[in-house]
Amino acid sequence: MVHNFNAGPSILPKEVFEQAAAAVLNFNDSGLSILELGHRTPEFSAVMEEARSLVRELMQLDDQHEVLFLHGGASTQFMQVPMNLLDAKDTAAYADTGVWSSKAIKEAKLFGKVDIVCSSKEKNYKCIPNDFAVPNDARYFHITTNNTIYGTQWQSIPKTSNSLIADMSSDILSRQLDFNAFDLIYAGAQKNMGPAGVNLVVVNKNILGKIKRPIPTIMDYRNHINECSMLNTPPVFAVYVCMLTLRWLKALGGVAAIEKKNIEKADLLYDEIDRNELFTGTVNKADRSKMNVCFVMNDPMLEKDFLDHAKAQGIVGIKGHRLSGGFRASLYNALPISSVQVLVDAMKTFKK
Ligand SMILES: *Cc1c(COP(=O)(O)O)cnc(C)c1O
Repeated sequence: MVHNFNAGPSILPKEVFEQAAAAVLNFNDSGLSILELGHRTPEFSAVMEEARSLVRELMQLDDQHEVLFLHGGASTQFMQVPMNLLDAKDTAAYADTGVWSSKAIKEAKLFGKVDIVCSSKEKNYKCIPNDFAVPNDARYFHITTNNTIYGTQWQSIPKTSNSLIADMSSDILSRQLDFNAFDLIYAGAQKNMGPAGVNLVVVNKNILGKIKRPIPTIMDYRNHINECSMLNTPPVFAVYVCMLTLRWLKALGGVAAIEKKNIEKADLLYDEIDRNELFTGTVNKADRSKMNVCFVMNDPMLEKDFLDHAKAQGIVGIKGHRLSGGFRASLYNALPISSVQVLVDAMKTFKK
């Protein structure tokens, strides 16, 4: 048995893999593979519509918010967001909480002015900034709700009068939030809601069309909204697998139910990290991520041995990111608590 702690692409429910595999051979008893079906057929349109409406339902979105499944990873949104929302003379506010935020900042600078209103860079991104102000005239304020590489997470959503925008790639649908408080949310699917190759974008349509820059057709959110997320050929298989994962989440009880499980998993692992004198958590306790748990061994010489010991128990994907070293265990929605228990047991037996 393999226990998959990969950071992304990452674990999805087994039943989703089974259903996806079956649909590759014979989609809904049509005699056709999901891979050879026209995207404008009623069969695929139904998939896209169900995926969009499941997101709407699970996130409890109001009528002003539109749901899109777009090509490209979250990195495409680093560019598409400012291209749609920022004129050259405008300023956008960004919180710099890690590698992904800084990449978003770099792209935004191509389109307008960027005000980095807070940064945890000096502290090696081990915490979430808490003392900052966002200028009223900033067009929007961008945060990365969960910092996948460093293992920090905004525990609550900052209160601001500005239009709030979030990269939720690694904690989308993992906890209850007032999603309507955001004017735009984006997430590469491959961390918590599906396979690589598609982005979820949730956007308040009232913020669009406010800038003068001409926007290339395929980059303009309004065109995707008008065409019900079928402006061109969507990544059909990735959307289909997202839909299956969203169905799975709904059947489980939705975001409230998964949040409860995610808290139990994170508590189980952090408790062991804090209890076991061989290990230390790397980030500020108050800012700990429930999705990506980063820790090191007090004796770095033992890390290789622990990796081997964990591997022998079927544990994969806990080697830390190349930038931060040590270990990172990703506890995404589909990871069962039994896998976390196996990791905790491995930490205990290694001690002996
Ligand atoms: C993985 C990740 C990205 C990059 O996603 P791509 O789909 O590879 O472009 C961006 N932001 C966050 C928070 C991530 O975890």
